[in-house]
Amino acid sequence: SAAGGHRVVCYDTLLDQQSGTHARLAAELRHALDDGEFHLLYQPIIDLGSGHVTSVESLIRWQRADGRVVSPADFIPVAEETGLIVELGAWVIDTASAQAADWHDRHGPHAPKVAVNVSARQLLDPALPRTVAAALARHSLPPHRLTVELTETAVFGGGPALATVRALAELGVAIALDDFGTGHSSLSLLRTCPVDVLKVDKSFIDGLNGAPEQEAIAVALSGIATSLHLRTVAEGVETAAQADRLRDLGYHHAQGFHFSRPIPADAVDALLPAAEPAALR
Ligand code: C2E
Ligand code: MG
Ligand code: MG
Ligand code: MG
Repeated sequence: SAAGGHRVVCYDTLLDQQSGTHARLAAELRHALDDGEFHLLYQPIIDLGSGHVTSVESLIRWQRADGRVVSPADFIPVAEETGLIVELGAWVIDTASAQAADWHDRHGPHAPKVAVNVSARQLLDPALPRTVAAALARHSLPPHRLTVELTETAVFGGGPALATVRALAELGVAIALDDFGTGHSSLSLLRTCPVDVLKVDKSFIDGLNGAPEQEAIAVALSGIATSLHLRTVAEGVETAAQADRLRDLGYHHAQGFHFSRPIPADAVDALLPAAEPAALR
């Protein structure tokens, strides 16, 4: 540039630029919701014993008008800050419940259960249990077919978030602790928070077959889960060797690119064990 690399950007200007970008993104998210630019993909969760797909995790995607797909890591934090996550989250819960009910109608007991992610801000919304109950009723979905994934950090410290989780559990939906082992207060939370599933974070799975300390943690987490009668899901499984090791270590379920990336709902259909031929339906 003409300034020869001596361009001085003062901190205030940088902050202004960032908050400008932030405000623009916040406004774009609002329009994206109104214009139907969000969709859900579903990542299979595999039973390590049978190799069958027993559930799927719904993962949101934003496909902008120009075709670019934005990752949730880039927009969920903004939606949380602006509060739009409450409305967006209600759309996720309704859409995932409709899909779960459709699978349940067509595949009966072989239908995959469906998990939805809820963020910290959603757990602070006292209406969340009503939102979930309404979606279950609207789609005639048995509650145990839906799993709500939340992080330890979101319920850390108890208070209103923990009360919301308890109300969700009372509805009969399953509760999963996501990214388990990376947040606050993992172990005491297991005494106070109703939990059905531990999703052991990818960072512990990455170290299997190599780092003894990592493996020791993966073993310990599986042991805790088993003694507390919780189901375990290993996240981020990328190799056959990891899957084999997890099976040996007593893990029940696994999820990761080794089995499948997140895929559209109709692609999940092709993976189901007892999928009836369309002609017989
Ligand atoms: P998460 O709930 O822990 O979801 C797992 C993430 O790991 C997904 O990223 C998934 O695509 C990715 N993943 C799965 N298997 C592998 C693997 O083998 N290797 C690697 N490297 N990655 C793997 P994604 O879809 O980008 O979502 C990121 C995060 O965004 C989620 O983490 C969740 O916290 C949040 N999120 C996604 N969808 C929603 C939603 O509908 N609502 C809310 N509130 N948050 C969401
Ligand atoms: Mg999750
Ligand atoms: Mg996770
Ligand atoms: Mg994660």
